[in-house]
Amino acid sequence: MRTGYDEVIYHDTGRLVPCNVVHHIETIGDRPDLRLSMSNLICVTAKTHRRIHAAYDSGQSEKSQMVARLREIRSERV
Ligand SMILES: [Zn+2]
Repeated sequence: MRTGYDEVIYHDTGRLVPCNVVHHIETIGDRPDLRLSMSNLICVTAKTHRRIHAAYDSGQSEKSQMVARLREIRSERV
């Protein structure tokens, strides 16, 4: 969001890949109060976004792990 590059790819590989999707780390359904919170938003590519949602859809523990990982990545940039 702030960088214009996929923050997950950058964190994992150091590569700068332009992002085009803004993902809500805590979903709007779970935390409507955070929908406009910058720290809850992470900019990613469509491919990363599909991976994130695949994890969210895999079960509660996979979702919790992905949320924690995204929070950690995001917090490095605040
Ligand atoms: Zn999303």
